[in-house]
Amino acid sequence: MDAHVLTEERPAGGAAASPAALPPTYLESLLAAGLLIETGVRGLYGRSAVFEGIADALNAVITRIGVDQQAEVLRFPPALGQTDFETSEYLNSFPQLAGTIHSFCGDERAHRRLLARLEDKQDWTDQQEPTGLVLTPAACYPIYPVIAKRGPLPQAGKVVDVLSYCYRHEPSLEPTRMQLFRQREYVCLGSPERIVAFRQLWMERGQQLGRDLQLPLEVDIANDPFFGRGGKIVADSQREQKLKFELLIPVNDGAPPTACMSFNYHMDHFGSLWHIALEDGSTAHTGCVGFGIERLVLALLKHHGLDPANWPQGVRDTLGDV
Ligand code: ATP
Ligand code: ZN
Repeated sequence: MDAHVLTEERPAGGAAASPAALPPTYLESLLAAGLLIETGVRGLYGRSAVFEGIADALNAVITRIGVDQQAEVLRFPPALGQTDFETSEYLNSFPQLAGTIHSFCGDERAHRRLLARLEDKQDWTDQQEPTGLVLTPAACYPIYPVIAKRGPLPQAGKVVDVLSYCYRHEPSLEPTRMQLFRQREYVCLGSPERIVAFRQLWMERGQQLGRDLQLPLEVDIANDPFFGRGGKIVADSQREQKLKFELLIPVNDGAPPTACMSFNYHMDHFGSLWHIALEDGSTAHTGCVGFGIERLVLALLKHHGLDPANWPQGVRDTLGDV
């Protein structure tokens, strides 16, 4: 792919405006500053040391403000086994976002065929076979089967701390919409009352963190991007029941504000799918607060400038120096 792939959708300039005269988009500024590193694929970027320093600082702050949760830290590589992925019913809701991992599994003859395809510049990807691995679509997914296998949860429930790269097939020119990005989450499993209180607490903490980082923000009811016509009904009902809230920050020029955190109540959706029970035999309800690590870094860079050394002291203090 050529280098223009990331810029070709810039708005067409008028007679006087040659492309060179247009101010750089936010994505172009980030690439020019070396904070994000182009790969030729939309939504797939390298990150510089500065970018990662901010991401690490954010994760440390999120750990600090969550210390009282006594969360169990669980980390997984960014993939799920196919069976767990099927159990999650992700394909019912978001078939358009899922990514599966395929590998070459053939013999030497098949290898020669593969190389011939490459040589002839023909498509070779149909020579790949499913491996039984699916890329993690949301950081909390791997924990449900693991918690379920342990047996009933204490009646008071529990909180789990997760961080994972996630994959979603949504190539975009907006730097805030990546195909591979990190979600840090606290996930709460327990009674409905516990989840509702947990979500309320984190909506307040999320807004306080945003204020401490001196970012303009609002919180609004939201819905997930459910697929298709049936999906619209599910999305409407999700909004009606106020199951998802997002903390929004303006990041992209001329675009609506971007969801940088989400506060979700899944009711008994995951508890039922994986048979997660509480001690009294009732099905566990679940909820999570998700921090979009890349989106928060991009919001900080947008509002405070591309060099963290020049950020307001209050922001630097909150992040414990970046
Ligand atoms: P959106 O509505 O913007 O697609 P979402 O509702 O699908 O986001 P969630 O599933 O709630 O997002 O994910 C939790 C958090 O992960 C989001 O609040 C956001 O900060 C981050 N996130 C989601 N999708 C992306 C993406 N494509 N690139 C970067 N961060 C993302
Ligand atoms: Zn989650």
